[in-house]
Amino acid sequence: MSFSVKILGSSGAAPAYDRHHSSQWLEIGKKRFLVDCGEGTQMQLQRYLCRTGKLKRIFISHLHGDHYFGLIGLISSMHLFRQIDELHIYGPKGLDDIIKIQLKYSDTFLNFKLIFHETHPDGLELLYEDSELSVYSFPLQHRVPCTGFLFREKPRPRKIIKERIQPDFSLLNLAELKQGKDILDESGKIKYRNEDYTKDPMPPRSYAYCSDTKYSPEIVEYIHGVDLLYHEATFTNEFEDRALETFHSTAAQAALTAKMAGAKKLIIGHFSARNKELDPLLQEARLVFPDTELAVEGETFELPFSTVDF
Ligand SMILES: [Zn+2]
Ligand SMILES: [Zn+2]
Repeated sequence: MSFSVKILGSSGAAPAYDRHHSSQWLEIGKKRFLVDCGEGTQMQLQRYLCRTGKLKRIFISHLHGDHYFGLIGLISSMHLFRQIDELHIYGPKGLDDIIKIQLKYSDTFLNFKLIFHETHPDGLELLYEDSELSVYSFPLQHRVPCTGFLFREKPRPRKIIKERIQPDFSLLNLAELKQGKDILDESGKIKYRNEDYTKDPMPPRSYAYCSDTKYSPEIVEYIHGVDLLYHEATFTNEFEDRALETFHSTAAQAALTAKMAGAKKLIIGHFSARNKELDPLLQEARLVFPDTELAVEGETFELPFSTVDF
């Protein structure tokens, strides 16, 4: 199953140097998700050929404009193009009122169902799940209520070793083996031991999105062991005081969070307009957490399986 994160926007409060406000496009199997939707997101979606006809769920971290001012524009276009039946939006209290009032005064009656789900920045919360995936929100430390998002695959069934399938295996036996059970004979004794006929499945992968937040070790418990972590890095360490004052993080702090969480890879973004060049941020982060990359717009990060055995 594919699992990728495409960067649509990487700029902090003000767009600068052709960098756009925060937004990311996730492709997980056949599903598409948008995480944050700053101003200009529609244009970025078009530029990078992201097909919004498949988009059913949008996650908004908080109500600072650089994370959602593109939402009404995107909703309006989705209405215009009649692409979908329903759209789920997950975000903080107040977002539904904001959208509804814009629709009301433009006399727009959407041709799809808009469903709001309020997020709560006070603990881990399951927002969405299906047979393959769970999406959670978790609290961040910012000036207004703000959550990060965790996308985690569900454990897969065990893999049957085809060469070892026995002629008397029934379909039920195969299903049981996939569930990790042994196959028993009529008297209840083990006839075929699970470990002889199956191997471990590919491990579930996970991605965490840490939008605006001050450095906060409490985040670590929510994102422990993720394969890929996005964490804001608005400033370099030179502006650590400013970061604290504005409830943002430095590149070194983002890297420290990744290190403490045991993340496999880190992407840093939400760059301040102070930083024309991003290399100092990258170097600063890599000193603490070597496997760090910049959130370069248009770039796609694939989540690989952690073992090469499959
Ligand atoms: Zn922001
Ligand atoms: Zn913010």
